[in-house]
Amino acid sequence: MFEPTESYAKRLDEQDEFASYKQEFYINDDQIYMDGNSLGLMSKRAEKTLLDVMEAWKTLGIDGWTKGEHPWFYLSESLGAKMANLVGAKAEEVVVTGSTTTNLHQLVSTFFKPEGMRTKILADELNFPSDIYAIKSQLQLHGLDPNEHLVRVKSRDGRTLQEDDIIEAMTDDIALIILPTVLYRSGQLLDIERITKAAREKGIPIGWDGCHSVGVIPHHFHDVGADFAYWCHYKYVNSGPGGVAGLFVHKRHFGIEPGLAGWFGSDKQKQFDMEHVFTPAEQAGAFQIGTPHVFSVAPLIGSLELFEEAGIKAIRQTSLHRTAYLMYLVNEYLDDFGFEIGNPKEDERRGGHVCLEHPEAASICKALKDRQITPDFRSPNVIRLAPVAFYVSYHDIYQTVMAIKDIMEQECYKQYKNERDVIA
Ligand SMILES: *Cc1c(COP(=O)(O)O)cnc(C)c1O
Repeated sequence: MFEPTESYAKRLDEQDEFASYKQEFYINDDQIYMDGNSLGLMSKRAEKTLLDVMEAWKTLGIDGWTKGEHPWFYLSESLGAKMANLVGAKAEEVVVTGSTTTNLHQLVSTFFKPEGMRTKILADELNFPSDIYAIKSQLQLHGLDPNEHLVRVKSRDGRTLQEDDIIEAMTDDIALIILPTVLYRSGQLLDIERITKAAREKGIPIGWDGCHSVGVIPHHFHDVGADFAYWCHYKYVNSGPGGVAGLFVHKRHFGIEPGLAGWFGSDKQKQFDMEHVFTPAEQAGAFQIGTPHVFSVAPLIGSLELFEEAGIKAIRQTSLHRTAYLMYLVNEYLDDFGFEIGNPKEDERRGGHVCLEHPEAASICKALKDRQITPDFRSPNVIRLAPVAFYVSYHDIYQTVMAIKDIMEQECYKQYKNERDVIA
């Protein structure tokens, strides 16, 4: 269905409905950025709304909380309502707050209620380390030994998880389930609906980590009945380094006591009564803790405009087509060099990046960087390549594969140490 030539790549770009979005982002003509799954690029709109909010501080001082174009006091909720489209939720089920890891702490401390036989948390052995650290420390706060009470579903191949294995692990001693929507290394997309249904049938609350899917895959957290979800915005949603994260709590839980209380979780009408009795908001806003990091929220205002214009369904279709083309070129041109594609090939089982495995992955990534191509390395042997719909063209994908081919043919990677830098 694809053709291997450069002219074909250029033809695809001519027909590409997303091509015009590239000019919305800051990227040099001679650069190719394949790392949007780790840190999305800055858009001009994100820059503008950050500057707008700084201007409000400059001109309004404390009145910026309630006045100006984007009153800070309501931003977490109003942006949550906009994010609801991306995650398939009701407007009041989402709030923009905290970081991925602090939101996980908040949600585990709210939803983990060990009782009788049910004392364990089910996760998986491929999840991101921070999630596992948070879960372990939450168990310890309950006086429970993580070695015994954290159950991690095993991977059969070291890359992916089987839905059957996950469902089988939902035994009578599990009190909470935490899983990633898309695995950060291999890019596997789990069957969220099937797993959530199975958890609900067994009466086990389930929460999803959407870091590697929010902004690139449509979600339906409300309709599938997930209990909660949490994610960052600095990857596919392009909100900038340390950008404030998001969380979803299903409506049926409204009124539940937040595990970690703080005054920004208050009912907004009551917050400034300054009572020592906490009256939580009736919506997802209840799970906020302290004053929002307004400058780290502000870029999201502008960034989300692009998502509203493009639509998450079209973003997903475009992303799938770009990753399919990338996999095609890998098979076409890199077959002789010992690469393996580690992500599932089916559309419904893969996320927004391609997982290219090679024993020399670290040094190949360094060689790519010296050619103005930014890949992403994950120890020990994974090159993650995310052809983001908004700013990676088909010709960029073609050039990336050609650069890897050249690096392998010329053995350029041998000039570099095959080990990661401090940040990989
Ligand atoms: C990126 C990522 C995180 C990062 O958490 P922070 O609190 O934002 O540092 C956590 N979990 C997963 C699965 C991620 O992909």
